[in-house]
Amino acid sequence: MPTSPPAQNPPIYVTEPYLPPLEEFQPYLEAIWQSRRLTNGGPFHQQFESALAEHLGVEHISLFANGTLALMTALQALRINGEVITTPYTFAATAHSLLWNNLKPVFVDIDPETCNLDPARIEEAITPATTAILPVHCYGTPCAVDRIQQIADAYGLKVIYDAAHAFGVRDPGGSILRHGDLSILSFHATKVFNTFEGGAIISPDARTKQRIDYLKNFGFADEVTVVAPGINGKMSELNAAFGLLQLKHIDAVLDRRRALVDCYRDALHGIPGIHPRQTAPGILDNAAYFPIWVEADYPLTRDQLYEHLRAAGFHGRRYFYPLISDLPMYRGLPSAMPERLPNARDRAQKVICLPLSPHLDSEQIMRITAVISAYKTR
Ligand SMILES: *Cc1c(COP(=O)(O)O)cnc(C)c1O
Repeated sequence: MPTSPPAQNPPIYVTEPYLPPLEEFQPYLEAIWQSRRLTNGGPFHQQFESALAEHLGVEHISLFANGTLALMTALQALRINGEVITTPYTFAATAHSLLWNNLKPVFVDIDPETCNLDPARIEEAITPATTAILPVHCYGTPCAVDRIQQIADAYGLKVIYDAAHAFGVRDPGGSILRHGDLSILSFHATKVFNTFEGGAIISPDARTKQRIDYLKNFGFADEVTVVAPGINGKMSELNAAFGLLQLKHIDAVLDRRRALVDCYRDALHGIPGIHPRQTAPGILDNAAYFPIWVEADYPLTRDQLYEHLRAAGFHGRRYFYPLISDLPMYRGLPSAMPERLPNARDRAQKVICLPLSPHLDSEQIMRITAVISAYKTR
């Protein structure tokens, strides 16, 4: 068996944030210093909110300090209570937002092809206490939005999409963010579109957006009226200004990411036991992540390959492992029992997300895939 080449170049991490040239940000900083407006819905906040809505092709958007506060506020805005059906194959914040709202997560297994909530398993998880479904467009792959809406309509449930991975994803009808009652985005530094930290809620109408805007500002409707025990979820002018600048670059960034994904696909094609994520037909994908699944017919286990890649300087991540349902605060729930979640467990045990950032080039992708193909015959 060949040994891993020693790391000669600086390590390449699973994701590195896109940063525009520093001098492009200077005029924004000067404007903030001049206006002395630092937060509370200042001029950059307003500009970014409308520019973002237009870019995404949605009408009503509320900016947040981060995606987790957006998730928590979305659940508050719709007054969700009791039990919420969700996926175990996601980032911890999805389920944590339920616990912070005193809600009970009910985990339902995923479809192994999409890695999203399996709509065929949702109905059996509904009880009299169920009030909502919280699916995730995992890796930016759209959920079975029509099936999920049918179930929600039949049982009178709300649907809140955790769309933290789905910036810019479109289906034939338009933005993926138009589905469900609300969708939330994250603009964390690790996401395809970042404002250092940031997030948003997409609402279907102006009234819902208004209520969310109250909630993210302590519940203040005006100087003397407080309509709810709101939270401080506001995005600052600094983050909003940076978001405005990022919007100028995002199309080029996404094109670059898609080209790198094509390099990966070509280089990994036909390696037995290595299965890259497939994109669905008719979907404009955002190339947010490049997960591969290391199946039994590959000569190494997932963890062996993960370690070999690291030794060569390529820091992939096992997104999403461990499963959320295995974490101490969730594993006692009946829906968290391992035998109920076989597909999620299988994906979590086999996945590696390979490095993918707009700063990489095809030569670096080839060095990464060379480590993987080196083991294909032994
Ligand atoms: C990143 C992420 C979040 C949290 O967003 P933050 O902006 O980091 O708070 C929530 N859900 C998913 C699926 C994520 O990947």
